[in-house]
Amino acid sequence: MAAAGAVSRVATGAITWVAPGAITGVATAAISGVATGAITSAATATWATVTAGTTSVGRPRSASSEVAVSNDGEQHDPPPVLTHDDGVIAIDTLTAGMTDVTAGYLIDAPRPALIECGPALTIASVLQGLAALGLGPNDLAYLVLTHIHLDHAGGAGDVAAAFPNATVVVSEHGARHLAEPDRLNASSARVYGPLFDTVYGACTPVPAARLRSVADRDELDLGAGRVLELLHTPGHAKHHLGVVDPDIGAVFSGDSVGVQLPGMTELRPATPPPEFHLDAALRSLDRYRQRAPGRIYLAHYGPVEPADAVLDQAEEQLRRWVEVAEQARDEAHTLGLTGTHELDHVAETLQHRFHVQPPATEEAGGGDTADDADDADVTDDAGSLDDARLRLLNDTRANAAGLLRYLHRRDTGELTALG
Ligand SMILES: [Zn+2]
Repeated sequence: MAAAGAVSRVATGAITWVAPGAITGVATAAISGVATGAITSAATATWATVTAGTTSVGRPRSASSEVAVSNDGEQHDPPPVLTHDDGVIAIDTLTAGMTDVTAGYLIDAPRPALIECGPALTIASVLQGLAALGLGPNDLAYLVLTHIHLDHAGGAGDVAAAFPNATVVVSEHGARHLAEPDRLNASSARVYGPLFDTVYGACTPVPAARLRSVADRDELDLGAGRVLELLHTPGHAKHHLGVVDPDIGAVFSGDSVGVQLPGMTELRPATPPPEFHLDAALRSLDRYRQRAPGRIYLAHYGPVEPADAVLDQAEEQLRRWVEVAEQARDEAHTLGLTGTHELDHVAETLQHRFHVQPPATEEAGGGDTADDADDADVTDDAGSLDDARLRLLNDTRANAAGLLRYLHRRDTGELTALG
């Protein structure tokens, strides 16, 4: 507990910035044993919710949390912040007002780097969290974006404005869309539908002079010998970057390894249109393997390990999803289904095969919980909330659409090496 007015920070890693007068607190990560042979969330760590004057430590905010944030310039509660045992500080972006959907990761170094910032709509809360950690306006050196999908990068312009010294680091294949996000916003509005306004918000532009567009294997110097390696890892998106931190043996994988929310026992691949590319995705996993990391930080959500088993599972899941989608597509053609009906059939088949049963609806009598969730108030109970999280960021229908497009382009010879 921090006394009012004191600066208090307890963390396993070395913290190099302290804002005078700021009340900060980060709980020491209490790491539990990792079961051998199993892929686990890497740390059962203690959460700290940083509030003015006190540090309260508890579990992540519950599903029915009253958290409501918007990018309206008002004062916001800082988001849950968690320091892992390797010093990586996870900041919950509170995407859609929900915990455990999208994380930003702050790397503590002489030149601190934030990896991912989340969507524009909830960026005020993330900025509040960075301030509560003691980061002054001149302290952030880098915002690193694994890719420019709005759930990862939508708030980049706001971060650039709040931290005038920060360089926004993005793939050379995605940079121009951040400087002039009109096309990005227009295509995102088409993909997300109503969620564009209610969950993401429009990406605000990053001044071109603030962007650093990087190529494969470029390095980012964080000072004191700490260097991040940036790998071009297409598959989920053509312009995807993986961030390797050799100092702690970690990879920040964005969406390239898949999605595994707390409570899920296995990864789900993220295969959205229009750029999903199986071979590129598999090559990207191989490139991570070559770095032999111990731990992988998923944007959705949190660290998983051991990394070699995670990468094997990611590969297996990618192959299975493509295989099931291909069978379902062929079946649809046999049945004479085309267009939306073909997509429906593939999505339903994937849903049936890979559905993650939300815990709270297991006893509900075997109904199709995915359909039921359409009408559910997502804050009603833990089950519908889990389902809502998954649907928000790893919707089976979006995966089906991406897989169908991939199969079509593969079979018509339209694929390039990247997507
Ligand atoms: Zn993405």
